[in-house]
Amino acid sequence: MILYTLRCSHDHHFEQWFSNSAEYDSMKAEGGLACPECGDKDVAKAIMAPNVKGAPAAAPAPAPAACTPGGCGMCQFAGQH
Ligand SMILES: [Zn+2]
Repeated sequence: MILYTLRCSHDHHFEQWFSNSAEYDSMKAEGGLACPECGDKDVAKAIMAPNVKGAPAAAPAPAPAACTPGGCGMCQFAGQH
């Protein structure tokens, strides 16, 4: 399931669950999406990340650019930079 934040042409925001992105596309194509505040069917996905499970964790910090001017033979990042 994907929770999308949708936005109508009057700048109303609302949330709706979909099985997948294809269901959103088909409902929009059939006019099945409407703003609960004004009934406007001109709705689009608001710009935000979809709320999906299993999002990847933040990438680990990269190795520092360099250790000392003499080299980094003893450094834990030896060979990485
Ligand atoms: Zn609206």
